[in-house]
Amino acid sequence: MPLCILCDSEATETAIDADKFVDCPECGQYRHGAGFAAHFAEQSAEFRADLARAVPWKFYSGGGQKPVELGNDTRLAEYHVASVKVFEEDIEEHRRKAVDELTSETFEDDLDESAIAKVSRVLGRSRKKSRSFVEDLIVDGIVEIRIQETQTRPIEGSPSLLRGPLKKYERCKKKGSAESEGSE
Ligand SMILES: [Zn+2]
Repeated sequence: MPLCILCDSEATETAIDADKFVDCPECGQYRHGAGFAAHFAEQSAEFRADLARAVPWKFYSGGGQKPVELGNDTRLAEYHVASVKVFEEDIEEHRRKAVDELTSETFEDDLDESAIAKVSRVLGRSRKKSRSFVEDLIVDGIVEIRIQETQTRPIEGSPSLLRGPLKKYERCKKKGSAESEGSE
């Protein structure tokens, strides 16, 4: 299997005319011209690491549907790196927004994929990383899963079947925004 030029993971690579379409488990999907890899290899380690963050961010913040275009030289890559740096300057704000989005909708059973997908978009992270972000929020006492309705509801058109209770991620009340006092 070919290796992703950004993160060295095993990835699938498909040739599309002179371009390569890469599907990487870490970076998502991107596409580059035949000359890109050589230009990229000449860049500093810092730039390469920046691009390895920028590509998955760009891919997942775009909804995880469209491959990130890297072109044939490094101009587009520079643009993506500049964009992710702007995003990272306000990371706390984006995390807050991710929590807002997470807590904005209800789900049933364990079917919280659409809530996780919103986090994925806001933070530009894979579903897997978004889910571990949410798990950390729970562990840190920032959000919890609340049951919205205690009664089951009939499913439309099938009176014999009952729907489970609706659930929702909610911000935990007790901790709020209070900073820990008396920390040393
Ligand atoms: Zn990768």
